[in-house]
Amino acid sequence: ASEEAAAKANAHMAETDAPTIFDKIISKEIKANIIYEDDEALAFRDISPQAPVHFLVIPKNRSGLTRLSKATEAHKPLLGHLMWVAQHVAMKENLGDGFRVTVNDGPNGSQSVYHLHLHVMGGRQMGWPPG
Ligand code: 5GP
Repeated sequence: ASEEAAAKANAHMAETDAPTIFDKIISKEIKANIIYEDDEALAFRDISPQAPVHFLVIPKNRSGLTRLSKATEAHKPLLGHLMWVAQHVAMKENLGDGFRVTVNDGPNGSQSVYHLHLHVMGGRQMGWPPG
């Protein structure tokens, strides 16, 4: 019975940590409009932009971060770096008048790709509250 439980746990891990479309963008297997890249992070334009400027910032190595709520203490430097990249690229994109950074987490957060990503949106007046 414990073997079965272990198998189930593994299947769950495989499912939740399975490669996503973003892995193919990182490996350049599929094309994306990449606007920033360093050893740890990648920023590219969202395929379905919700604002005049809409790009995503992702860690190249997901390292368990399928979603923000999986973050551990060990992820803190990476999380900080992603936030730094968000504003760095926002400035390069002329969003000095302001922009929005959003992380959708899980079903209630309307997350659709399970590889942590920051949405950065700007170039128009954003509304509040979001839907
Ligand atoms: P989520 O809903 O998970 O927070 O956001 C996922 C985002 O990834 C969506 O805004 C969606 O438009 C974007 N996206 C999904 N597939 C692709 C793709 O193949 N290329 C690019 N550039 N963006 C994608």
